[in-house]
Amino acid sequence: MTLASPSARWRPSELLLPTPAGLYCPPADIHIDPVRPVARALITHGHSDHARAGHGAVLATRETLAIMALRYGEGFAATQQVAEPGEIIRIGEVAFRFAPAGHVLGSAQIVVESRGLRIVASGDYKRERDPTCACFEVVPCDIFISEATFGLPVFRHPPADGEIAKLLESVRLFPERTHIVGAYSLGKAQRVMALIREAGYERPIYIHGAVEKLTEFYQAEGIPLGEIRKVADFDRKALGGEIVICPPSATQDLWARRFPDPVTAFASGWMRIRARARQKGVELPLVISDHAGWDDLLATIRDVQAGESWVTHGEAEALVHWCGTAGLRAKPLHLVGYGDEGEADPKEEVADAAI
Ligand SMILES: [Zn+2]
Ligand SMILES: [Zn+2]
Repeated sequence: MTLASPSARWRPSELLLPTPAGLYCPPADIHIDPVRPVARALITHGHSDHARAGHGAVLATRETLAIMALRYGEGFAATQQVAEPGEIIRIGEVAFRFAPAGHVLGSAQIVVESRGLRIVASGDYKRERDPTCACFEVVPCDIFISEATFGLPVFRHPPADGEIAKLLESVRLFPERTHIVGAYSLGKAQRVMALIREAGYERPIYIHGAVEKLTEFYQAEGIPLGEIRKVADFDRKALGGEIVICPPSATQDLWARRFPDPVTAFASGWMRIRARARQKGVELPLVISDHAGWDDLLATIRDVQAGESWVTHGEAEALVHWCGTAGLRAKPLHLVGYGDEGEADPKEEVADAAI
């Protein structure tokens, strides 16, 4: 039997491994996006399935820490530490770096490196341009941990500006009707507003109470969203012809029926599935996703040139299968607890409505 020297290269599972609390790095004694309270946590982004309250020490980007404080209150963790852009943070013999993930404001991949082994935990990510956050950085690595929310070939997302053009065309065709756009309150809502502005729409955009705090935060961060008004300050019956942004659940509430002859829209990657749009009573589906679609998942796995990919939430099996047919090593991670607020969890919408 040979004993490994202290500086021998890690086996991947010695540097990072899935546990019931989430991904765990034993040599630094720290978890990534833990789903249970832990002593020390690295958080990739502010969506509620990744960023939870109740940890001891939390290390995240400045924006993610601010978003967590907005959602959970300042005391969401015992201590907080900002990961500056590009900063290498050493914990024990592990070096961590936060690299942009292009998912929502402040979102980051976490680069974990020690003894010549580099693993990138991408969190949620997308490759499409987004005027509200820094774009995804390709970090070459030995092991790439990819999400697979939209890991099926059916999920090919069209360019978002074309979807916004559909919305504005409908507003032009139906000037008496209110266009109510369901969009998740962190990230999607603000991205939709920014894209509407990029398309040249200059009228005020109205927002539901559940979207207010995060929208104000994006504006304070210098994201140009134009004139934003709170629906609560107006008589809804007087908002014919206007665009209203609200959490997806609100489009089906009594709240929505008070607007004049509303057109219900929903901005989500799931709108690629027409049956899903019909089932949710969506008249105007807008296929706008904050997660990589199928083609971008494959492109990213190739771009990072990893010897192996570990695939988590969503359609892990399909993506792992594709990797196999392409001669790339891959395995599903079977992490639990990540439903993605970004595209699905109705409980989260209720929680959002409370802030
Ligand atoms: Zn997310
Ligand atoms: Zn997620």
